[in-house]
Amino acid sequence: CGIVGYVGPSTPSARPLEVVLAGLGRLEYRGYDSAGVALVCPTGLETAKRAGKLTNLLGELEAHPVPDATAAIGHTRWATHGGPTDANAHPHRVGGLAVIHNGIIENFAQLREEVRADGATFLSETDTEVVAHLLARAYDGDLTQAMLAVVNRLEGAFTLLAVHEDVPDTVVGARRNSPLVVGLGEGENFMGSDVAAFISSTKRALELGQDQVVTITPTSVDVVTFEGDSVQAREFTVDWDA
Ligand code: GLU
Repeated sequence: CGIVGYVGPSTPSARPLEVVLAGLGRLEYRGYDSAGVALVCPTGLETAKRAGKLTNLLGELEAHPVPDATAAIGHTRWATHGGPTDANAHPHRVGGLAVIHNGIIENFAQLREEVRADGATFLSETDTEVVAHLLARAYDGDLTQAMLAVVNRLEGAFTLLAVHEDVPDTVVGARRNSPLVVGLGEGENFMGSDVAAFISSTKRALELGQDQVVTITPTSVDVVTFEGDSVQAREFTVDWDA
């Protein structure tokens, strides 16, 4: 339902979590039934997620504080496959990799059988979790390449964001039939399902086209088609007040 991504300076700080929680707060108007975050920390990937309102997630983060991070992704869910439970909340993680998703993966059942046969264990009833397993299997050091390999196997509508603890300076996103916008900062970059996700930090944004994958680091934004060809995305200024 609502998606936020952030990557900032290589010195870990509380900012990635703050930015993502603030973004989720600004996307609250869309409605949702659970909320969750994944943070890339020097000690590895940290995730927290809770059914219900954002305050439930905030309570969880207060009870179990997370370390400072360099990158973060956050999600509010509008359940389509699987009830509104903690387990079905996003992010979905496999090892050091976490993914969040808006939309519906139409061919998830077939893909799930394939990775189950390959030994994967599923912890949720969502259509999304299979994407985490596919990405983890496709990943061999390059998260963008893994995303490209996986999106070409998916049918339906999706905005996806992924992080991996081995690449603490990177967030990778993809979109098909579902919105994703990039926010351009100074030494930090953002992604959101809507400019509201990052409007309090930057008004410079990039519009992504259909079937594109975007990789952000603190100092770069690279957009490619699902075939891997470079794209020059159009920059625009968000012209409403935070
Ligand atoms: N289909 C996914 C799920 O049910 C994502 C729903 C959403 O867009 O929030 O978990």
